[in-house]
Amino acid sequence: MSIEEYDVVVVGAGNAALVAALTAHEAGARVVVLEAASRAERGGNSRFSGAIFRAVHDGLDSLRPILADTDPEVLERVSVAAYTRGDYIDDWFTTSQGRPPRMLVERVVDQSFDTLVWMREHGVRWELTADKLFDPAHLDGVYALTPGGAIRSRGEGVGLVAALFDAVEKAGIEVRYDSPASGLITRGSAVDGVLVRRDSGVEEVRGVVVLACGGFEANPEMRRRYLGEGWDLVKVRGTRFNMGTMLAKTLDAGAQPAGHWGGCHASPQDAAHPPVGDLRLTDKLARYSYPYALLVNSAGERFVDEGENQVFLTYAKTGAAILRQPRAVAYQIFDQRTAHLLEPRYRTATPVEAGTLTELAARLDISAETLETTVAEFNKSVAADADVRFDPTALDAVSARPDGQPPKSNWAVPLDRPPFLAYPVTCGITFTYGGLKVDAEAQVLDVTGRPMPGLYATGEIAGDFFHYNYAAGAGLMRGAVFGRIAGANAAARATGVRQ
Ligand SMILES: Cc1cc2nc3c(=O)[nH]c(=O)nc-3n(C[C@H](O)[C@H](O)[C@H](O)COP(=O)(O)OP(=O)(O)OC[C@H]3O[C@@H](n4cnc5c(N)ncnc54)[C@H](O)[C@@H]3O)c2cc1C
Repeated sequence: MSIEEYDVVVVGAGNAALVAALTAHEAGARVVVLEAASRAERGGNSRFSGAIFRAVHDGLDSLRPILADTDPEVLERVSVAAYTRGDYIDDWFTTSQGRPPRMLVERVVDQSFDTLVWMREHGVRWELTADKLFDPAHLDGVYALTPGGAIRSRGEGVGLVAALFDAVEKAGIEVRYDSPASGLITRGSAVDGVLVRRDSGVEEVRGVVVLACGGFEANPEMRRRYLGEGWDLVKVRGTRFNMGTMLAKTLDAGAQPAGHWGGCHASPQDAAHPPVGDLRLTDKLARYSYPYALLVNSAGERFVDEGENQVFLTYAKTGAAILRQPRAVAYQIFDQRTAHLLEPRYRTATPVEAGTLTELAARLDISAETLETTVAEFNKSVAADADVRFDPTALDAVSARPDGQPPKSNWAVPLDRPPFLAYPVTCGITFTYGGLKVDAEAQVLDVTGRPMPGLYATGEIAGDFFHYNYAAGAGLMRGAVFGRIAGANAAARATGVRQ
């Protein structure tokens, strides 16, 4: 068996891993990155992402220094209100129903803006998400971006990982592709390195270990085991490589499981989404304009409050609601009041179009009678002045409470202006919430609550950050903040041990 020694061994090569590797390298450690995928498929879920990073900021003026590349015309068209520490913590605890340890959340929130600055210094170029939820050409005047979801990497996930790999390569950090870690090298509860499964046999790569190799969302057996019935067959939005191998091996080695093992981030996707993410389409099959639609199942019935909150705070739980419907499909139905509000990425779909609801139901093969009743009841309960007060760019409190249906808390305008457009959607899993227990120093804790010496974790593989639901942009931010913490601590431990 070949044995190699480094100071720090980073497992995975997505956002969390590359940030950890750069940080450890800058702290003087000799670093290797082990990636299961080939060079062509590198980048993990981070590459598929929309690359929104949720960060605390004081509004547009505070962002300008890191938005150096943003088109001045875009800056003229949008406003961005401040997103405070309190807002971020509230959004996190509200979506996760108060479950995560406060110190983990505060770590991410408090280091979020500094981490954006650090990433900018390492080549990531930030821009505003001005065209994410709307096509700006279809909105009048200046419009407000959601403050917590206003920033993304230029080139989205593809641009993000290209910039990070560029920085890693310029730093001379070794990245080994086709190198899936298959186990830990342990001494009691201490970790001395990882085993790597190669075509030629198993290799030992020794050093302080940073696990940044994702959750188990690509593994149908684990999804069925932990998430439950129906999840084995769900579409996977991102990489096929996040199989949970090292998560399982690390638990076997005595690590403590943490967080919402039965929960995951899953959102509405085009019903024709392939079984795993497509590297050309990345996140372009997401269907997030449902707050302006009626979302019905194949029985023609509504089943969620489409306007419960801003979409960035509801989309991650809406996938599971769709999965619970017959055949795991649903239909987003728009009319000519709202068709112009569709996100630009709906261009990757061909809607089913019809002049009447009866005709639409026939084309969708759903009960016309039920669909007509659903829509009639809904329209009847819409406020008389809904048209005047409707504001798609803000929570407008234009609500409806139809009999026998979920309410619609915002953006409740009648569905009555044909032609009608229906977009068939299904559930796509993004990432899993259960993972390894870590402390605020990114150390992995064992089942007794003690740190496992020589083992750190960041990104999706760490649990207890998200429960039930999620605020857009917190995943990448969590991985980057804890990537810096893990990289710095792993380097300090390795170089301390070496001295
Ligand atoms: C379509 C889509 C859109 C998204 N949009 C956003 C967004 O806009 N904002 C946001 O915050 N989050 C978003 N997310 C979620 C976000 O992408 C993830 O939370 C984040 O990328 C996770 O980063 P990570 O580094 O932990 O994992 P990844 O980026 O998935 O990296 C894990 C890496 O580990 C490798 N690996 C796995 N097993 C092994 C092994 N045994 N040995 C070696 N390597 C291994 C994988 O190949 C992969 O490269 C999105 C996700 C998807 C799929």
